Amino acid sequence: MSAQHLSERNFRMVVGNWKMHGSLASNAPLLGALLEGVSALPAHVAVGVCVPFPYLAQTEQALKGSRLSWGVQDVAQHAADKGAFTGDVSASMAKDFGATLAIVGHSERRHLHHETDAVVVEKTRQALALGLTPVVCVGETLAERESERTEAVVGAQLAAVLAAFEVDALRRIVFAYEPVWAIGTGKSASAQQAQDVHSFLRAQLIQKDASLAVATLLYGGSVKPGNAAELFGQNDIDGGLIGGAALVAEDFLAICAAAAG
Ligand code: PEP
Repeated sequence: MSAQHLSERNFRMVVGNWKMHGSLASNAPLLGALLEGVSALPAHVAVGVCVPFPYLAQTEQALKGSRLSWGVQDVAQHAADKGAFTGDVSASMAKDFGATLAIVGHSERRHLHHETDAVVVEKTRQALALGLTPVVCVGETLAERESERTEAVVGAQLAAVLAAFEVDALRRIVFAYEPVWAIGTGKSASAQQAQDVHSFLRAQLIQKDASLAVATLLYGGSVKPGNAAELFGQNDIDGGLIGGAALVAEDFLAICAAAAG
C-alpha cells in the first residue's frame, strides 16, 4: 500500500477481514485463488487480507512478492515491541511476517473487548510507528442510528484519531465506516445511507486539513457481489472492508472487480 496510492482520489481498496476463521487446510486454496484472481484487476485497485495471527506465516509464504497485501485484525496498544503483555501481539511482530495492514478499532473489538477511543488511538499509533497502514473503523449501533446519533457517534470516534496525530500521519490512515447493525447481518446500509456518512466523515477530515480530502474511506457491513458496485459507485466510498464474503474466493474477487468500476 504505497503512500502515493493513498493520496490518489481514484484509488480503490478492498480489504478482507477473515475474523476468527480459517485453518491451514482451508486457507491454502483461498489464498491461491485470490492470488490468481487479483492479477486481472487494474492497478488502481489495491487488495489485502487481514488474517488471524497464527496464519501470518502461511499468508506471507503464499502472497510474498504478489500484489496482494496482508495484515492483522488488531495490534497491541503498548509503546513497546515486547514485554509482559500476555496474549498481546505487537505491530512489530506482525511486521516480522510482512504484514502491511492492521485493522484497528473494529466494532467487535470495541464491543467485545471494551476498546475505547483512547485505546484505538494507541493501537493506531503503534501501527503507524511500525509503518503498517492502520484501517481505523468507526460505526454506530442500531440504537444510536435510530436515535439519530449516527454523526455524533462516528464523528466522536473519528475526532479522537484526528486529535491524536499530525496531518502527515493521518494521511497514512485508511478509515472504514462500518455500521454495527450491518456487520455480519446480511443487511447492508443502503448506498445512500453509506454515502451520507462517508460524506460527513470526509468533511470532518477536510476540516482537519484540506489534504485529507483524498483519504481512503472504506465501507464495511454485509458487502456482497450483488451490492458492491452500487456501494462503491458512491462519490465518497473508495472501497470496502469485507467480512463474510472475504472467505469465499469467488465472492471476494467479484467484490474486488466491482471496486475496479
Ligand atoms: C467486518 O467484519 O468488518 C464486516 C464488514 O463483516 P461482514 O462483511 O460479514 O458484514
